[in-house]
Amino acid sequence: MPVRQWDPASKAKVVLEGLQGKPETAICKRHNIKPAEYRRWRKEFLAKIAGSFVSRQGDERSKALRVAQDLIEVLPIPVFFKARDGKHLGANRAWEAYFGVERESFIGKTVQELFSHAPDVAARHQAADEDLWRNPGTRSYELQVPVRDGSVRHTLNYKATFTGADGKVAGLIGTIIDITERKRSEQRQAIEHRVTRLLSECETVAGAMPGVLAAFCESLGWACGARWSMDPEIGAFRCEEAWSVDDPDIATFLAASRQSNYQPGYAGFIRRVLGTGQPIWIVDVSADDSFLRGAQAAKAGLRSAFALPIRLGDQVLGAMEFFHRERRLPDEWLLETGVTLGNQIGHFMARVQAEGELREGEARFRSLTALSSDWYWEQDEQFRLTAMSSRFVERTGIDPAPYIGRKRWEQPALNLTESDWERHRAQLERHEPFFDFEIERPGPDGTSVWLSLSGEAVFDEGRRFRGYRGVGTDVTDRKRAQGVLRAAYEELARSNAELQQFAYVASHDLQEPLRMIGSYTQLLERRYGDRLDQDAREFMGFIVDGATRMKQLIEDLLAYSRVGTRGKEMRPVQAQAVLDKALVNLRAAVEQSAAAVTHGSLPEVNADDTQLAQLLQNLIGNAIKFRKKDEAPRIHVGVEDAGDEWHFSVADNGIGIEPQYFERIFLVFQRLHTQDEYPGTGIGLAICRKVVERHRGRIWVESAYGEGSTFHFTLPKIQKGET
Ligand code: ADP
Repeated sequence: MPVRQWDPASKAKVVLEGLQGKPETAICKRHNIKPAEYRRWRKEFLAKIAGSFVSRQGDERSKALRVAQDLIEVLPIPVFFKARDGKHLGANRAWEAYFGVERESFIGKTVQELFSHAPDVAARHQAADEDLWRNPGTRSYELQVPVRDGSVRHTLNYKATFTGADGKVAGLIGTIIDITERKRSEQRQAIEHRVTRLLSECETVAGAMPGVLAAFCESLGWACGARWSMDPEIGAFRCEEAWSVDDPDIATFLAASRQSNYQPGYAGFIRRVLGTGQPIWIVDVSADDSFLRGAQAAKAGLRSAFALPIRLGDQVLGAMEFFHRERRLPDEWLLETGVTLGNQIGHFMARVQAEGELREGEARFRSLTALSSDWYWEQDEQFRLTAMSSRFVERTGIDPAPYIGRKRWEQPALNLTESDWERHRAQLERHEPFFDFEIERPGPDGTSVWLSLSGEAVFDEGRRFRGYRGVGTDVTDRKRAQGVLRAAYEELARSNAELQQFAYVASHDLQEPLRMIGSYTQLLERRYGDRLDQDAREFMGFIVDGATRMKQLIEDLLAYSRVGTRGKEMRPVQAQAVLDKALVNLRAAVEQSAAAVTHGSLPEVNADDTQLAQLLQNLIGNAIKFRKKDEAPRIHVGVEDAGDEWHFSVADNGIGIEPQYFERIFLVFQRLHTQDEYPGTGIGLAICRKVVERHRGRIWVESAYGEGSTFHFTLPKIQKGET
């Protein structure tokens, strides 16, 4: 590539680009020159301008000066020059505009006089000048200076000396390049870089924040900062973390902030930011009523402050505040940088919380799998087993290795047929959840193990099917217990039936020999009665008596055994008709005892009418039998509607029953009295219970001893559709 020849005018143009603030690297790249070369041109350019001031003789000098001044006047960058004594000689229009000062007002003034409001700035310029006076030539340095509108700008200052007619240094010429934009983007980058690194390294907000606050303050020259959090439940907010330059007064101020818990409704700086989600700037904390900690802040040497929200979308998660030791006007750029930082922290907080929740979820899952006797499993989209928690082998003794990578139906199951598997497979292909799917697998040492599995389909964010996951339980014990229970039940049913049969056969077959005893005893009495003595006749009487009682017992027992075996089908019957039938059978007893039997209105019930009649007859019969000696029996049959069932009661005013016998009297042959007191076999109530239970009802007694008893029983109502 041919090397370009640079003429002085083109060089001056390039240098001017730089003097107007374009970054050096960009200029060098664009014009394909080396930075060193560019700097040399800049030096030459400034030296040439300065050289214009070099004294020549007479007219020639003043002509040269005029040309130089005209040139300077039109330069688009602030230029000034001053004499060897440090007093300003002049400046161009751009300078006036930059500082907002009429040039007449500063000619003849020193830098201290010009920057009386910013002594630090004056001192820095002064030092640079001193250096130049000692070692003439050119200098450049960066400095932050307050300008026209009170804002502070980053500047790059170039200065070059010029000599007088005597060849001695006569003064210097200086230019100012505003590098605020460049500086700011560098600062923002530096902050972002530091903060991004911090946030990626920290796991908690509390851990990250001091560093984040330091990054912001140090990069921008602010003295301290703090983060405030809000508890949305109670609306209170508090200062969580803080950072400050090394200053005990500021540390005291921040410590005080951190000690208080601010309540909602408490007007103030942070509260407003939290409430509105908008940043706030305070130029002077001691002069602002809305800043409640103003006096303390001023005492700590702080002047300006601003606060901004930490946000996550529309949600305000907290706020940050920063303080400067000097008066600072609201700075849009700074606020914007802060808001960006606030958003970055908002996202970090959300991430920390999500990670915390994830960790918590994982811990819960771990506890669950560790503490549960169930195991956890996963399948891929092909239904191949991909994971099985260790509880599986612990519980079942089965090695899971052969199961991994295979489908459920590719392993032997002892209880399931092809079509059972087909159904299960179809369910999985429909991605449906399944519950308590029971498989009997061959277990260790020739045993078998019953597994009960439940699972649900897993989908990714794109609703794509990813497989199944679920839990499994070892139900071998339950299965075995169920088997034992079933066997026991079957055995019970069988022996019950056998017993029924036995009772029936026994009572039936006993009747015949008993009849023989009865009839032959009577025959004996008839034929040989007059030849028997008194004793023998009495003994004969006992035999007849015993045989009669035995006959009654056998008949009752037969009736009892017939309740289960000879019952009729249930069908709707009018309870009134049934009661009437029972009373007909009891007529003799009723009349003899002068009993008064009353009843309420009676419903239609689903029953075996013969058995229901027997039930009522037994209960009313007992009520008559167990009457008091001196009182005629009063018996009432009542019915109440108890929802799904009818609640019957048979109440009497008889002798009553002691509570300890309430259960016993319903058992076969259980009686509370001797034959002499009250005759009977002790089977009546047992039959009642059997009848009621066959009708799917319950029977029980309530009684006050010596006052009377009430027997209760229930019968289910006729269901709709039942005829
Ligand atoms: P039994 O009437 O043949 O003795 P049950 O099985 O009918 O046999 O009655 C058992 C026992 O319950 C009776 O012996 C009696 O002591 C008691 N009992 C039954 N009904 C009444 C009643 N209404 N009042 C008092 N006691 C009764």
